[in-house]
Amino acid sequence: MLLEFRGVKKVYQNGGGAFPALKGVDLRVEEGEMLSIMGPSGSGKSTLLHLLGLLDRPTEGEYLLMGKPTSSLSEEERAYLRNRFIGFVFQAFFLLPRLSAVENVEVPLAYAGVPPQERRRRALALLERVGLLDKAKSLPNQLSGGQRQRVAIARALALNPPLLLADEPTGALDTRTGEEIMALFQELNREGTTVIIVTHEPMVAEKTRRIVRVRDGEIVADERRG
Ligand code: ADP
Ligand code: ADP
Repeated sequence: MLLEFRGVKKVYQNGGGAFPALKGVDLRVEEGEMLSIMGPSGSGKSTLLHLLGLLDRPTEGEYLLMGKPTSSLSEEERAYLRNRFIGFVFQAFFLLPRLSAVENVEVPLAYAGVPPQERRRRALALLERVGLLDKAKSLPNQLSGGQRQRVAIARALALNPPLLLADEPTGALDTRTGEEIMALFQELNREGTTVIIVTHEPMVAEKTRRIVRVRDGEIVADERRG
């Protein structure tokens, strides 16, 4: 088991009240799975993804990562796991605008202390993997949306994380480009990366064999197909 939620609740304090965004979620994901999390706006998808990514802590319940409870980890240990174990991909790409494609991919490698020459070599190999080697020197504003998302995916893969979390990764892309990005996720999944995608687009969710449906802070369906 790669990860497991046991009775995970998340309550946000806002103004005078408490808002239960997740009301007791049980979820198990095996290594090598690819699944999508679907649900209407406000149903708790982002909250779920933030908890999965160790960006936030449950109010109640336990999150086990590789069999180990994460509640007892220090902030430092959580940050280490987040950097080394989890790759994040977002709708808005979040590339650094003054850095070229290859330099953007190098950022996490630099933080990890990889020496410059090795960094460049690995970043170019990652760009090749996402089919963008010929754009290595381009700035983000010289790239299309789909190309920017490929750079962001290459960056997410820089430290070879076993788990990739994507929040509406095709939300800013046209249908065809979105399909190309999904094909890339499928390829990465075939190579062994576990992929979890939050989306409200049925066309995107259809590309995964497992669909978890969230509504009002609860999992209301967990569908698996052939
Ligand atoms: P989704 O991603 O499905 O749109 P979210 O997880 O972002 O849903 O939000 C679930 C609910 O929790 C929403 O009603 C949202 O307004 C609320 N919520 C999310 N984050 C916070 C927060 N930091 N503080 C207060 N309420 C929040
Ligand atoms: P998404 O578009 O991915 O569903 P949202 O727009 O719901 O994301 O939320 C974006 C960020 O704002 C999240 O980090 C979430 O925690 C925070 N947020 C959402 N709703 C609220 C809220 N009612 N109060 C405070 N923060 C919120």
